[in-house]
Amino acid sequence: MNSAPEEQSRILIIDDSATSIRLLSAILKDLGRIWFATSGEAGIALAREHRPHVILLDVEMPLMSGYEVCRVLKETSETRDASIIFITGQSGMESEIRALEAGAVDFITKPVNQPVAKARVCTQLNVQRQAEALVRLAKRDGLTGLFNRRYFNEMIELEFSRHQRQGHVLGLALIDIDHFKAFNDGYGHLEGDTCLSMVAQTIALATQRPSEIVARYGGEEFVAILPHTTLEEASKYGAWLCEKIYDLKIPHQFSSCASVVTISVGVAALVPSENSTIRQLINAADHALYRAKAAGRNRVIASDSG
Ligand SMILES: [Mg+2]
Repeated sequence: MNSAPEEQSRILIIDDSATSIRLLSAILKDLGRIWFATSGEAGIALAREHRPHVILLDVEMPLMSGYEVCRVLKETSETRDASIIFITGQSGMESEIRALEAGAVDFITKPVNQPVAKARVCTQLNVQRQAEALVRLAKRDGLTGLFNRRYFNEMIELEFSRHQRQGHVLGLALIDIDHFKAFNDGYGHLEGDTCLSMVAQTIALATQRPSEIVARYGGEEFVAILPHTTLEEASKYGAWLCEKIYDLKIPHQFSSCASVVTISVGVAALVPSENSTIRQLINAADHALYRAKAAGRNRVIASDSG
């Protein structure tokens, strides 16, 4: 969940001519995974299922024309971001304009010129890859590589309502590096940044169950969303994190609670009812974190109000 490898490019060909599909598949076979459909309806279904980066769409098809298929693809949330390239036997300004107005990004004329077709698909695959990279970056914190707070805010909304619907318990952990300001002041900001990254990576590696999400919450504060996790399980997780960070043995001579870098963790959990709020869950974890600090740090405290 915390890092995704770059995916293979996905291409969908929608054309009522089997000959045309065979030819295009042969031209594009090295560029990614290819699906094909011989009707608009089948093509739309495949597009929703596989979310292709690029869709090659024949304009002249019986039943649903390429223009109609394009309109549906652009109105469907799962498919609207795909790059659609029209394939058409008609050339000329008018059909070009109509294609672009329908939402296509480019078009290829029949008979298909192989290098031109390949180059146009390549261009659109690059556009799609860059767009994906931007989306990935927008979710990430630049220093630690963890998800950022904005992404956390989106995901906690989703998880909260999912748990509300299902009547399941949702856990949350707030994690804070102990005496981090003293660390920064004593060792300098460069060392401070390294320490932050090491702690962040250790927390991310320890938080890998499906749907678990770790984000940077503030300066030296992190937050973990723990789906289907009871207060007791969240406490165990917190205690385990404290051990993991302690075991990194990053020297911290300016700490009052240990000779190495440590963390404090506050955990809370609740089965969201109709009246409960995300704020309630976060406040409960925050209060527990405050108590962990007050009790001497390097420990986990479970909320008694969650
Ligand atoms: Mg046709």
